[in-house]
Amino acid sequence: MKKLQSVRGMHDILPGESRLWQFVEETAKSVFDSFGYQQIRTPVMEQSALFQRAIGEITDIVEKEMYSFDDRNGDSLTLRPEGTAGVVRACIEHGLLHNQRQRLWYQGAMFRHERPQKGRYRQFHQMGVEAFGMQGPDIDLEILLMTAGLWRKLGVDGAELQLNTLGTPQERAVYRQHLVDYLSRHRDSLDDESQRRLSSNPLRILDSKNPEVRQVVSDAPLLMEYLGEESRRHFEQLCEGLQQAGVNYTVNPRLVRGLDYYVLTVFEWVSDRLGAQGTICAGGRYDGLVEQLGGKATAAIGFGMGLERIISLLEESSAANVEKRANFYFVASADTEIKAQLIANKLRRDIESVRILANCGGGNFKSQFKKADRSGADFALILGEDELQRGVVGVKSLREDSVQKEVLVDDLSNYLEGLI
Ligand code: ATP
Ligand code: MG
Repeated sequence: MKKLQSVRGMHDILPGESRLWQFVEETAKSVFDSFGYQQIRTPVMEQSALFQRAIGEITDIVEKEMYSFDDRNGDSLTLRPEGTAGVVRACIEHGLLHNQRQRLWYQGAMFRHERPQKGRYRQFHQMGVEAFGMQGPDIDLEILLMTAGLWRKLGVDGAELQLNTLGTPQERAVYRQHLVDYLSRHRDSLDDESQRRLSSNPLRILDSKNPEVRQVVSDAPLLMEYLGEESRRHFEQLCEGLQQAGVNYTVNPRLVRGLDYYVLTVFEWVSDRLGAQGTICAGGRYDGLVEQLGGKATAAIGFGMGLERIISLLEESSAANVEKRANFYFVASADTEIKAQLIANKLRRDIESVRILANCGGGNFKSQFKKADRSGADFALILGEDELQRGVVGVKSLREDSVQKEVLVDDLSNYLEGLI
């Protein structure tokens, strides 16, 4: 029989790694919470039409990365490749945007059929934030301060904030024409993909990785030069706020982002320690999307961050790697092991966030003590027949040379609380 394996590009997160994942997730949750954001959970599958309309037909995601299939009714469904479209769909469907502001966050698995490599998988995990109903640069600043604060709490250092503005759709349309004129004059130096994009999505040519194309692009007109007064002001105010908050950034005029729906502010946090897959967090303003999906025009901004890439940054640093160990290991004999479970259970009820590992599975005391030692626990709790008779439990340090204490079962919670 063929060996069963996980799907290519989709990975198990094993027990040895999950502590770090929890650390990242819990830290992010607490940061989002401290800014007043609430969680929203949407299904992992949506109608394919949602992503086609939200992300745009001429994008890498819709053109070649989506996991789409017909279900048993013949409806075309897609495993979500990103979180924003589903959140917007849910907000419209449940009337969350009628003259309301929303500050939301989400978390979950995303799916894209890409070529798997370090930092790029077919199932990956994002946490992200969306804020609706706020137009000013102050919410842009809030979002960026939130990410900067998160890196500080996580111990991610050296990530660089790259910032750009894409202007309004009108300003972009004017710019687009100038860009197409310029690029058409250099058509022969463009690769096939860029030539194709010349008519479909010329802005994407700006972030081409092909060196020859980059050469052409380096002299292309800049969108910055086509901004109106209001767009310029929005961007300047954001930049000023970042400066005053002490958040460093680089303005990158080639940053256009892969998705069609962005306007004005776009940004990426990029680490130089991850090789080609260096972007750990990306987002921007998408004021047109809610209307495009059938809701009322609503200002919106958000970001998504790739947890795998953040985890891989943190794996190197020790700060996040403090492994939580058991406090107590419960040693018992064949005649007392059920009673030991009952006592352990009561201790867990009495003592907040205590961790007790019950031996389970028998063995003589010597072998149990070996397991206790290997578990990393600080103390052994011992219940032999003799202790059971006398209504006590033995408590012995596994880390220091000290005599075994005997504590009455009734006093045990109090006594152990004093030890941790
Ligand atoms: P890239 O340029 O790396 O393909 P993207 O622009 O397609 O990124 P977004 O759609 O903005 O990525 O997703 C936000 C974040 O999710 C990225 O910055 C990255 O951290 C993460 N991410 C995106 N695609 C993948 C993937 N296939 N595997 C792992 N993480 C990913
Ligand atoms: Mg991509």
